[in-house]
Amino acid sequence: MEENGVQKKMKETIFIKMYEPSREISKKVMEKTSTDTLPLTMIPPEEQETVCIFGTGDFGRSLGLKMIQCGYSIVFGSRNPRTFSLLPSGAEVLSYSEAAQKSDIIIIAIHRDHYDLLTALTEVLRGKILVDVSNNLKMHQYPESNAEYLAQLVPGAHIVKAFNTISAWALQSGALDASRQAFICGNDSKAKQRVMDIVRALGLTPLDQGSLLAANEIENYPLQLFPMWKFPLYFSAILCVFLFVYCVIRDIIYPYVNEKKDHTFRMAVSIPNRVFPIAALTLLGVVYLPGVIAAILQLYRGTKYRRFPGWLDHWMLCRKQLGLIALGFAFLHAIYTLVIPIRYYVRWRLQNSTITQAISKKENPFSTTNAWLSDLYLSFGILGFFFFILLGITSLPSVSNVVNWREFRFVQSKLGYLTLILCTAHTLIYGGKRFLSPSSLRWYLPSAYILALIIPCTVLVIKFILILPCIDKTLTRIRQGWERNSKGSKSALNGQTDI
Ligand code: NAP
Repeated sequence: MEENGVQKKMKETIFIKMYEPSREISKKVMEKTSTDTLPLTMIPPEEQETVCIFGTGDFGRSLGLKMIQCGYSIVFGSRNPRTFSLLPSGAEVLSYSEAAQKSDIIIIAIHRDHYDLLTALTEVLRGKILVDVSNNLKMHQYPESNAEYLAQLVPGAHIVKAFNTISAWALQSGALDASRQAFICGNDSKAKQRVMDIVRALGLTPLDQGSLLAANEIENYPLQLFPMWKFPLYFSAILCVFLFVYCVIRDIIYPYVNEKKDHTFRMAVSIPNRVFPIAALTLLGVVYLPGVIAAILQLYRGTKYRRFPGWLDHWMLCRKQLGLIALGFAFLHAIYTLVIPIRYYVRWRLQNSTITQAISKKENPFSTTNAWLSDLYLSFGILGFFFFILLGITSLPSVSNVVNWREFRFVQSKLGYLTLILCTAHTLIYGGKRFLSPSSLRWYLPSAYILALIIPCTVLVIKFILILPCIDKTLTRIRQGWERNSKGSKSALNGQTDI
């Protein structure tokens, strides 16, 4: 095989220098990248595998550069092979049909809209591995995935979907700041294996997603914007707004209307420090509520083999996100609580009550009960917060990956319920007798802390009933595959088949 001058130079020097920065990718990044231009693996020139890249756009160039660094020999296919610029040093640029003949792996770094140019190359591409890296602008933009469309256009080629979740930016930034996971799918296992080898050689992690049928889903990944966070974020935002308005009505508007007192300053610290713990506890309850609803459904249906309703499925999948938001609110509550002693209002009240006592010569006797309640309240709060943090840490992928399923369940379920109990007890003790006192009602509105207890107490009561031995036994059997009406359901199924 003949080598051109540029290629020879590259093989002699091993070091690769960058050309001028591209239009879209900033100069700084390119400069930074130029320090990483030493090939990761020193492969002798004669052993270098040649890979063809169709398209000299952002992605083609970035991938080409990275592959050259990793010891591949790159041939670009371009509409204008003579007027190319900004390409990594050492790469050869030819026309699409000439380039295709140089390698049996061709990375198609062009947009789907321009795939029709490949129909003219059907014969050259026969038996070759075509790597589809394309993404769309919208989810489900086309009836079939881009990879399946490519397979229809070039029926003689082996299509592999890969790299679409890796951005040109991530390939350019030497340290690979973004995700290293490259999802791969394809119908030909040998072709897939070869692409996975390239992925590994680039320092990425290949994740085999199966046949080309998975391409649609893989193409949707880069278009998703925190799909699991939508419901938790909306729910917590609505909850916070509701609680804030509720507290403003009770603690600011009510005293103003009835006593002409201006308590608006409470909006800065007091009310947020009421909203955050209530939101944290409510969300923690919301994390465990779908679990008990699912258990009730399984008991009612007498089987685990019927699907849960969609909303319950989705709710269960969002539990981690709900829990992390709850932990965020708990953090805010802890920080707000720490500043209480330095608040002007608190210092003023303390001094005022001391002076009032001194003037009226009245002593405020020490109450052991109050001391107990106050210490228990603080202790439950601190312990609850500690276990809450532990729950948050174990939900991180780096931690959950090193514990087995039983350990993970133990932490998330047993420690989770312990956290819920401690935080609920913390709130109950804080409210104390005030919860039930009619004097705490303002315009018939109970204290906001009562709202905080509704979901957690409901969850805890139901959970307590569910772990009663007679119920727990049935539930465990159902979860092990036992069905209450297994005979009946079989005959019902037979009946349906007969019809
Ligand atoms: P781009 O900068 O617009 O480059 C596309 C290339 O396609 C052009 O440079 C051109 O190369 C070639 N092409 C062939 N026929 C064309 C035509 N009729 N009109 C215009 N260009 C034509 O796009 P890109 O950002 O590199 O993306 C390329 C593919 O990679 C897309 O499918 C994209 O979805 C996918 N992708 C991109 C990224 C990213 O971060 N950019 C990430 C993952 C996947 P020649 O001029 O050399 O022929």
